[in-house]
Amino acid sequence: MVSAGAGSAGRGARAAVAGLAGLAGAGRRASGAGAGGRPAEARSGASRAAGRGARGAGRTGRVAGVAAAAGVVGWHVVPAGLWLPGVRAALWPALDGRGDPGRVALTFDDGPDPDTTPLFLRALDRLSVRATFFVLGERLERAPGLGRRIAAEGHELAVHGWRHDPPWLPRPVRDVREVARAAALVEAVAGRRPLWYRPPYGVLTGGRWAAARAAGLRPVLWSAWGRDWTADASPLSVRAEVARGLRGGATVLLHDSDAMCAPGSWRAALGALPGLVAECRARGLAVGRLADHGVGRSE
Ligand SMILES: [Zn+2]
Repeated sequence: MVSAGAGSAGRGARAAVAGLAGLAGAGRRASGAGAGGRPAEARSGASRAAGRGARGAGRTGRVAGVAAAAGVVGWHVVPAGLWLPGVRAALWPALDGRGDPGRVALTFDDGPDPDTTPLFLRALDRLSVRATFFVLGERLERAPGLGRRIAAEGHELAVHGWRHDPPWLPRPVRDVREVARAAALVEAVAGRRPLWYRPPYGVLTGGRWAAARAAGLRPVLWSAWGRDWTADASPLSVRAEVARGLRGGATVLLHDSDAMCAPGSWRAALGALPGLVAECRARGLAVGRLADHGVGRSE
């Protein structure tokens, strides 16, 4: 899931997030809505907290928040600004998973989930589509057989972290340890070293970035999402959301588990798959794994 709650964040972290949201607002005003429209994070946890703070404190507070973001937690949270589609599209397109213009990469986060992942595997098999599954180490440890099945069916396993921690507090040592542990487990289960790291909530802090590099993983987020994690998501709403960012070279984010999402929300993503794949193919776009997507090939 990508919408981070800020409930456990400390005052300093909230100020930093408020500052970052201020920067985000400026970025959106300057560039218009980025790929996929207004980031969900900006509407959910992080920026709701930021919004409350900004409304209460007014312009002075916003300025102070920006200063806090820049000065107090700079290295930790400033890279997280790259979660904003407009920002990262301009500065670091490979982080968007931008790849071959004739292809779309299909990715799933938050599994493996013994209750729901097999349903996605069956649907993908029917569609003759291979995808990339960003798994959590602690979940893969509980379901290694399911991880082996994902790999055996031709899909790619990648690292979403060991657990689905919120990003607001800097924990660089733990980040390094846990990303390395998750990468080692994925390698043991899938039989090949993973290539990619997508941080929980899509927030790439400095610590997470360093942890990915130390583990030999390439950070990658997405350029289109289905907002399939919400309680009111439906196959149609997921299709409509993905369509906003769907173009050649796009990387699509969905979830094969509701463990971090609204209960039952996986049905929306699962139900959207046949239509989504059909739409890509009608537009002449092949759907597949990040490994086949040519991310960063032009860099
Ligand atoms: Zn997630």
